[in-house]
Amino acid sequence: MKILLLGPPGGGKGTQAKFLIDKLNIPQISTGDMLREHVKNQTNLGIKAKDYMNSGQLVPDQVILEMMKERLNSSDCKNGYILDGFPRTIPQAEGLNEIFLELNQSLDFVIVIEVNDNTIVERMGGRRVNPTSGRVYHIQYNPPKIEGIDDETGETLVTRSDDEENTVRRRLEVYHSETSPLIEYYQTENLVHKINGETDIHIVSESINKIINHNV
Ligand code: ADP
Ligand code: ADP
Repeated sequence: MKILLLGPPGGGKGTQAKFLIDKLNIPQISTGDMLREHVKNQTNLGIKAKDYMNSGQLVPDQVILEMMKERLNSSDCKNGYILDGFPRTIPQAEGLNEIFLELNQSLDFVIVIEVNDNTIVERMGGRRVNPTSGRVYHIQYNPPKIEGIDDETGETLVTRSDDEENTVRRRLEVYHSETSPLIEYYQTENLVHKINGETDIHIVSESINKIINHNV
């Protein structure tokens, strides 16, 4: 099964992807996590991507498409995956279609998590992440058992540098201009399911499960 989670930065894509990994036993492919790993390791790709990420801009399509082509060819992607944060532009979606043609694959679901801008800005101030696994918490809405510590590995949680309010607002502008047109793009392929992302994390998860269970 191939699922695309679409929605604004901070909409809950990463949180829901982790639930789906457990339910479906397929990998999450988060371009944000992959890019942060490249930045941390100071690879060529990471050096190219860093300034875009810190300023809340998108990394150029060509860089992302090369990275994804390699990733989607990996053996762990054979039985499906959850795309989280890719594609983010129409050219990326077109590039993904080309990769799909080569691999003889296609998407099963595009799940759009809808959340208002004001909720996003409020949420991002409280996001904490495990930089190794990408596991996400919120100081109020999804706190770890021990403050600042990952429940499963005991690693220290961090605040992402691009979650500062002005950068979040920039990312939201980019979302509305570059990414939200993808909803219409996939609507023409009849793949889109919209859900209310403003409810409790577990209710959002149930909405997603219902869509998947109804349509398999
Ligand atoms: P969020 O989870 O808040 O939506 P991500 O972790 O997905 O953020 O992305 C963080 C940053 O990484 C983005 O602001 C952007 O600079 C870069 N990035 C991630 N995915 C892509 C992509 N598909 N295309 C271009 N840039 C990307
Ligand atoms: P994305 O991957 O779309 O950027 P995240 O999954 O990282 O979004 O969620 C952003 C922040 O909001 C995190 O701190 C997360 O714990 C919190 N969060 C996610 N879903 C909800 C929800 N339904 N209600 C309240 N907070 C949420």
